[in-house]
Amino acid sequence: MENDKNLKNWLTDFQLEHPLVIAGPCSAETEEQVLKIARELKNSDVSIFRAGIWKPRTRPGGFEGVGAIGLNWLQKAKAETGLLMAVEVANAAHVKLALEHDIDVLWIGARTTVNPFAVQEIADALEGTDKIVLLKNPVNPDLSLWIGGLERLYNANIKKLGVIHRGFSTYEKTKYRNNPEWQIAIDLQNRFPDLPLICDPSHITGKRDMIHEVSQQALDLNYDGLIIETHIDPDNAWSDAPQQVTPTVLKQIFHDLRVRKETD
Ligand code: PEP
Ligand code: MN
Repeated sequence: MENDKNLKNWLTDFQLEHPLVIAGPCSAETEEQVLKIARELKNSDVSIFRAGIWKPRTRPGGFEGVGAIGLNWLQKAKAETGLLMAVEVANAAHVKLALEHDIDVLWIGARTTVNPFAVQEIADALEGTDKIVLLKNPVNPDLSLWIGGLERLYNANIKKLGVIHRGFSTYEKTKYRNNPEWQIAIDLQNRFPDLPLICDPSHITGKRDMIHEVSQQALDLNYDGLIIETHIDPDNAWSDAPQQVTPTVLKQIFHDLRVRKETD
């Protein structure tokens, strides 16, 4: 995969909106929480519902996800709302369970992208799939590692590939939770212009008040989509509380965003 020649933008095949909007809680917490949020996101700009069920926590002691039971909740949410469902997978066992439960989109988290063994294991488990697979950038600002992950997935004959830019960790404190370092994602976009590039302002900012600003920056840079953590009761979320927005706020953000049209 020397360049983008064989990579395709599948957004139009799927008849997904542009920009593509993925929203939902950081973590699935209860069946009721999942269904409530999905119902509120139905009939909005959102095409794909996200919810983590296996949560890779930096340090032990935090909420590590509800596990496989959450897949049943997502299936119910899908049947009720028609939204496509997305979960994070970090190993082959997660992939197997997600596929058995008809999950539409599998994303690989930043802490997994750094590990070539894990990415390869996931790629092997997904060999030839027609599901959408999204690769987050690695936690550290290493473009080769990000491209290497893409190559592993591409070599496993996974065609509906996209990337999520969620920023990079730094030791110094900045106004961001994860520094965007836009240039890294732009370099990737220049090398693979047909690869859908999605911005994750939630994990970049870590703060709900900055979601609009960073989403606008991404759209101005021609990103193809946004993934925004959305919770019915953000302050009481079991993970990433400060950065989640309510479905109502999400709708307001989209109302206020300037979206580039083809004619611009
Ligand atoms: C998440 O999407 O909730 C998550 C854990 O993100 P990241 O892998 O970007 O830290
Ligand atoms: Mn999160």
